[in-house]
Amino acid sequence: MPALQSRAASRRLVGGLVLSTCLMVFGAKAATPAPDARDRQQAREIYSELLRIPTVKGQGQVPVLAEVLIRRLRAAGFPAEDIQTLPLDVGGETTVGLLVRYRGAAGNTRKPVALLAHMDVVGAVAENWSTDPFRPVEKDGYLYARGSVDTKASVALLATTFIRLREAGWVPDRDLVLALSGDEESGSRTTRQLAAHAWIRSAEYALNADGGTGEMAHDGAPAAFFFQAAEKTSVSFKVETRNRGGHSSAPRPDNAMYEMADALKGIQALRFPVQFNEVNRAMAEAMARARGGEVATALRTLLGDPGDAAARAVMEKHPEDANILWTTCVPTMIEGGNARNALAQNVAATVHCRIFPGVPIEQVQAALERAVRGSGASVSVDAARGSSPPSPIRADVFEAVRRAVNANYPGATLTPEMSSGGTDGRYFRAAGIPTYGVGSLALRHPEDDRAHGIDERMWMESFDRELTFWDVLLKDIAGEH
Ligand SMILES: [Zn+2]
Repeated sequence: MPALQSRAASRRLVGGLVLSTCLMVFGAKAATPAPDARDRQQAREIYSELLRIPTVKGQGQVPVLAEVLIRRLRAAGFPAEDIQTLPLDVGGETTVGLLVRYRGAAGNTRKPVALLAHMDVVGAVAENWSTDPFRPVEKDGYLYARGSVDTKASVALLATTFIRLREAGWVPDRDLVLALSGDEESGSRTTRQLAAHAWIRSAEYALNADGGTGEMAHDGAPAAFFFQAAEKTSVSFKVETRNRGGHSSAPRPDNAMYEMADALKGIQALRFPVQFNEVNRAMAEAMARARGGEVATALRTLLGDPGDAAARAVMEKHPEDANILWTTCVPTMIEGGNARNALAQNVAATVHCRIFPGVPIEQVQAALERAVRGSGASVSVDAARGSSPPSPIRADVFEAVRRAVNANYPGATLTPEMSSGGTDGRYFRAAGIPTYGVGSLALRHPEDDRAHGIDERMWMESFDRELTFWDVLLKDIAGEH
């Protein structure tokens, strides 16, 4: 991305000039203070209040949560005209997206930055939990509740950051727009409304707090954080075979089940090519450095020659590492047959694909059709989520995030990331807004990987620290140097 590099380089030069001017101004005006114990207490209070509201699809509670935030933001001095809710009827239930504009200094010409998280949560099967999922409980340094990680921590921390900076009289040098969706877990219709809103459309980029967690190691090694700049596209295809059926006592060679078996064997043999973009190239390089052994050798070979069959075969033995390299498709559900004693008339399989960013859905459908050719099966799209292009890894944004991460965790690494898909970020990217998943909420892997699962929990030391991440980052990208 030569054009972007030169833009980043010129920005650094300008930054040097701005810095010296700022230092002179600071002679008269003290810097806005860093978060203190009172701020951390407030963040915890807001967090606890949000976690008690069951913002699960079908319960109509998202507007209630939005009102809680609005009341607190208004009390901190945000004027009514800088707060907007975007109501939406989804299957008879009203949900909302929430926008809060932290206005930049009068006369500023910089483009806004959007800050993203979501207010809804996935459901929780209460009897499987060791605590009530909607009554937060703190024990052993963790806070247990549905949404504690995904993503009410970030909602509370971003709201608290807006409140405390506003109360301290801080004025950013550009608009900062908080954009909270209300149905990220169930269709993201509010997300698309937010991405199309006038306050957001003009954004230079968006920072998504969902996807902004990192990993703590057990052995004292520095924590690892990720800069999510791309997502795969999640698409389900329906593969179907049909037959006129008949009595099971008189079987024929033509049979919907045998045809489906042939179709699935064809899909089992299907391989998508190794692909690199700026994001997974950086990931593959980092993975090669961290892993060593045959994975490192294979990745280095593929970085030089994506068509190398032997290196590809090595990576196929490591599916959790290899899924950054190519599109994947796998059958996940199957149904068929009409009666125990009848020849099947219909068989249908669901084939779920995670598509490499930028690859059209039709191209994957065509590859599936080729794979099942001769079986008589048909292939159609069953459910598709929005596809999105990768966002360019801007050096200025990446370095600002790294400084904020290291303010919390000195020595921690930050690596570009392409995820398997599933955050609001893809809708903002698809709308033309470069979007980065960022944050330094640190979880232990794998025991804290509980989002959407049982006993979801947040490590509260990390939660307390996260106010520093947002304080450092917002002051960095919006004016206080
Ligand atoms: Zn989620």
